[in-house]
Amino acid sequence: MGLRRRRRLYSLPVSPLVLFGVVLIVLCSSFVNGNSNSTQIPITPINHDLYHTRGALLEEIESLVHRHPSKLSMETFSTQNKGYHAETTVVTYCRNKKDCDDRSKLKILLSFGQHGRELITTELALRILSILSEEEFLSSAYPLNLNNTLDRLVIKVVPMENVNGRKLVEAGDLCERRNGRGVDLNRNWSVDWGKKEKDYDPYEENPGSAPFSEPETQIMRKICASFEPHVWVNVHSGMEALFMPYDHKNTTPEGLPSQRMRLMLEKLNRFQLNDRCLVGSGGGSVGYLAHGTATDYMYDIARVPMSFTFEIYGDSTASSKDCFKMFNPTDITTFNRVLNDWSAAFFTLFSLGGVQIEELHPNATGSGFEKWVSIDDYLNGYLMERKSRYGKKMEVLELGMQEIRTYFRLFLLSSVLLMFMFCSRISKSGRQIVSAMSL
Ligand SMILES: [Zn+2]
Repeated sequence: MGLRRRRRLYSLPVSPLVLFGVVLIVLCSSFVNGNSNSTQIPITPINHDLYHTRGALLEEIESLVHRHPSKLSMETFSTQNKGYHAETTVVTYCRNKKDCDDRSKLKILLSFGQHGRELITTELALRILSILSEEEFLSSAYPLNLNNTLDRLVIKVVPMENVNGRKLVEAGDLCERRNGRGVDLNRNWSVDWGKKEKDYDPYEENPGSAPFSEPETQIMRKICASFEPHVWVNVHSGMEALFMPYDHKNTTPEGLPSQRMRLMLEKLNRFQLNDRCLVGSGGGSVGYLAHGTATDYMYDIARVPMSFTFEIYGDSTASSKDCFKMFNPTDITTFNRVLNDWSAAFFTLFSLGGVQIEELHPNATGSGFEKWVSIDDYLNGYLMERKSRYGKKMEVLELGMQEIRTYFRLFLLSSVLLMFMFCSRISKSGRQIVSAMSL
């Protein structure tokens, strides 16, 4: 999500002569400088001592996967729409590959770099994968048994959802958050899609021509539909926050699971993030409503029971034009602090996510994970609905219709046979009658 740059127009009582003078000065200064912005606001460039380039980051992740084939695997999805092509890499972590399909595993889907300018998020993806592969370790003392936690999980990491947008940022458009053809990927989902607030700015929030018009969003939806995660985290920067649904209205969902979600975020904030984060619904806390977001879709449509948006860093003192500084730490101390704190927060989330489901499971008596008959069984009502939304109930209906059609055909065939037999009997007896008459 991140803070949107707000453009305000101030109306001042100026005479036409003054206005003419101002225009003349602006024109002259742009002639002298070549660029009217360059002398006004210092723009911080990408710090390449700290940050990987897009290519280097994806290469590093690929070699990490090759070094740990027993734990990590990688897939690349590509699709296109009207000549616009997008490619998304997904890394899957599973500690023991032979029991990856075990239904009792907690399935977690994480996406980083959905907005191009939020480079720090993709660095966090690399850090988390490095810790999962045990090449790096959590810096702070981790209060829980990490191996025990990791045995219970399957994690899918999308380290850079918006590769084409990132290309534009690295080419110099440091404020670009949209994809390679100007669509905000966090407004392109179907929940409350296309609704525009009064301060709507197409530079920031263009939702696309329709829900799922963008290849990147289509790929993410496909990954979610096949994986059916229990936890979803959309990782952004621009502020420090732990958001839960909803983004398109300023309330959180009702009921126990929602209360548990909030409690879990509050714990995370207190124990790992020094209470620095805003906690609550995206729409209620961030200061604006966001329509067509991934997290609202994951919660409402894909029925992912724990759906979050985490905002991991923001510099509110930076000028709104100084985007690299606004969305990313620029010095090594802050850079390391952000990666250390947030990787610890994520591993705590992995652990708390498991505990949360265990607590809510009616058969879980606190004696441990082996008592989880299946997470899917526990979430029965929730996932049944999810299955119908994904069309599985339709498949059952389809099968039923096919059976009826087969029986109908059999019925028709047997009727025709009976008719045939009946007719042939009549014609035989008819012939007997005729022959008798000819005699
Ligand atoms: Zn963002």
